[in-house]
Amino acid sequence: MSSKPISAVPAERVRACNTAAIASDGSYVVYWMHAVRRAGWNFALQRAADWARELKKPLWIVEPLGCGGRWDSARRHRFVLQGMTDNARDFEKTAAGYYPYLETAPGEAETLLRELARDACLIVGDDYPLPLDCDPESWGKSLPVRLEKVDGNGLLPLQTAPEAFPTAFSFRRFLQRCLRDYLLDLPKARPLARLKLPPAPPLTKTIRSRRPSCRRQLASKVADSLLEKMPLDRHVSPAETVGGPCAARAVLKRFLEKRLIHYCDRRNDVEEEFTSGLSPYLHFGHVSVHEIFSALARHESWTPDRLGEKPTGRREGWWGMGRPAEAFLDELVTWREIGLNFCWRRRDYDRYDSLPDWAKKTLAKHAKDARQYVYSLKQLERAETHDPLWNAAQRQLVREGRIPNYLRMLWGKKILEWSASPRRALKILIELNNRYALDGEDPNSYSGVFWVLGRYDRPWGPERPIFGTVRYMSSENTARKIRVNGYLQRFAAE
Ligand SMILES: Cc1cc2nc3c(=O)[nH]c(=O)nc-3n(C[C@H](O)[C@H](O)[C@H](O)COP(=O)(O)OP(=O)(O)OC[C@H]3O[C@@H](n4cnc5c(N)ncnc54)[C@H](O)[C@@H]3O)c2cc1C
Repeated sequence: MSSKPISAVPAERVRACNTAAIASDGSYVVYWMHAVRRAGWNFALQRAADWARELKKPLWIVEPLGCGGRWDSARRHRFVLQGMTDNARDFEKTAAGYYPYLETAPGEAETLLRELARDACLIVGDDYPLPLDCDPESWGKSLPVRLEKVDGNGLLPLQTAPEAFPTAFSFRRFLQRCLRDYLLDLPKARPLARLKLPPAPPLTKTIRSRRPSCRRQLASKVADSLLEKMPLDRHVSPAETVGGPCAARAVLKRFLEKRLIHYCDRRNDVEEEFTSGLSPYLHFGHVSVHEIFSALARHESWTPDRLGEKPTGRREGWWGMGRPAEAFLDELVTWREIGLNFCWRRRDYDRYDSLPDWAKKTLAKHAKDARQYVYSLKQLERAETHDPLWNAAQRQLVREGRIPNYLRMLWGKKILEWSASPRRALKILIELNNRYALDGEDPNSYSGVFWVLGRYDRPWGPERPIFGTVRYMSSENTARKIRVNGYLQRFAAE
């Protein structure tokens, strides 16, 4: 048996996670969809479909939702569940079987995968730079069949960048040198369309009785009640933002039609928002960066011959698109993918010691500086500070699971200023961000939180108490730069 199917998935995106063989006498191919939760624009699904076609076997798509994670909450799980409802609908019309599965206790998904593996030819999973619930790699070495993981995270395959880049400038220049080759390697928008496969056979009785699919409930009005059986943090209640690939497509459309045009000039506004709102959908894999890029390229009537020849590292001018589109791509590609790159290349991505030396040095010099305010995690969590703008941002985070980017920077900087030490600030930042933000526990979470302490930045003068030469921000300046009155009213104390 060849170790590769005839496949359009680029080799740089595929990684074998064990040395077990492909069981060509197995009953089906499994796609274990635990990070890239969508039916389209999905390299891993495409790879699994390629294998199923080549082996002439049925394809089972299994979407597990685990419950052992530190920040698992009713908020984030409801968002994922809404996506599962979309996926059930999207897979309905295809030749593949769809098996959505909710853990009621940690470890159940592992048992499910092991039971599936007994009759599988191989298992294809999602590669992701951070540890996630239900990651098959942790069990991969003892599986009886091949486990392959496929990376669809960014426009740039993770394996391509040899090191963690320290600045956006150096990463941008690297992208400008080598991204061109990958921009045409897009995943199929509908990898299962017109695919003819044998029908997915019923799974074993043990699986069906002990690890039942929740597919039927997803289609009913009581889908939310499924979460009641899961041990989740219910203090973090569901947000209004609706999850799922279907909502993601609508959010992308709204952005391109109504907001993009203002992206350069008004992206810092907080009373009316002009950014895309796509980060939670990107985080849970409900939308692909490739799909966003394609839609933007269409919107801009863009063709690859417009790409600049020289890698300058500059923010504007390389893509050959309009100014707002280029500014957006700098966030979506440079800033998002530098975070993917860091988490992929550095095991210490969430450790204080991963900060650049200059930042550690200056923060250490000022670690014992007197602080006018020191707040505990609880006080911060309850928005009990002296600063009305900060409190409003924190209330938005708790109520809605988000803070607009500009305020999020201020929010982070103040936690550094009001914590007993920079190490304590880092702990609080990670805890509040990942607990409440719908897009939390993402590589971008660590880029953002560590940026507060100097990652990807440079020293700024004048040297100040607490911050040293780490970039400083003040609520007064922020309130001068952007209109906040309406925002303060909207997120006043209840
Ligand atoms: C303290 C702090 C914590 C943060 N935590 C997170 C987090 O948990 N999850 C998260 O996705 N982002 C985080 N960010 C980055 C940024 O705030 C969000 O990505 C952005 O606000 C999401 O809104 P949007 O989708 O409308 O962005 P848009 O402006 O529409 O940008 C499109 C996409 O580009 C990426 N992007 C935008 N800004 C940034 C940025 N500054 N850094 C990295 N990628 C970016 C996101 O994937 C975003 O969805 C954090 C920033 C700070 C300062």
